[in-house]
Amino acid sequence: MIDVAGNLRGVLGELPAGVRLVAISKYHPNEYIEAAYHAGQRIFGESHEQELQKKVETLPRDIEWHFIGHLQTNKVKYIAPYISMIESCDSMKLMKEIEKQAAKHDRVIEVLLELHIAEEATKYGLTLDACRQLLEDGEWRQLKHVHIAGVMMMASHVDDESQIAGEFDTAARFFDEIKAKYFADDPGFKERSWGMSHDYAIAVKHRSTMVRVGTKIFGPRVY
Ligand SMILES: *Cc1c(COP(=O)(O)O)cnc(C)c1O
Repeated sequence: MIDVAGNLRGVLGELPAGVRLVAISKYHPNEYIEAAYHAGQRIFGESHEQELQKKVETLPRDIEWHFIGHLQTNKVKYIAPYISMIESCDSMKLMKEIEKQAAKHDRVIEVLLELHIAEEATKYGLTLDACRQLLEDGEWRQLKHVHIAGVMMMASHVDDESQIAGEFDTAARFFDEIKAKYFADDPGFKERSWGMSHDYAIAVKHRSTMVRVGTKIFGPRVY
């Protein structure tokens, strides 16, 4: 087994104060998660509902689980009882389903608006204009069991560090724009989730508050 605790300490040592680590444990076995847990890590991220369900049932109760993958509306009900944060909220339809399921459990679920900024073609994430439109429509204000805590994005998978930095800056400026317009009086709207194994060192210099690191801690995933 790889040195999960050592890798974890290495990553944590590079994070400035105020930046939190989400350890991305998708496709990794419980033993790896337990090793990180015993080294003090409490926030873990997963991207598949069934895999997450199995882990939740067998791992310590005080883990804070973040959902980071594409979430189908019909899967929300399974994670609603326990999920701490859904980082990949990219439609009003999904947000309304989270509201409905969270209400059943009398909880408030934290969500991040997933932005599509990278040049790669993907179906997921809101374009900046789509996100502006969603917020302007205002329906989110009625949702009492969903709290929008910030934004999440993935930079393009390229070697060009200046391009990656530019995309993080675009996301940070967009955060400032919507913070000022819609969330100025909500101190809980504060998260900027960006930075993965290959680019978190850049992300923390470009206003990330939350990095999502998997491979650097747990090694390559076995699919
Ligand atoms: C898998 C994944 C990560 C972690 O990626 P690594 O390269 O293993 O650090 C971060 N964010 C999202 C959305 C992911 O799907």
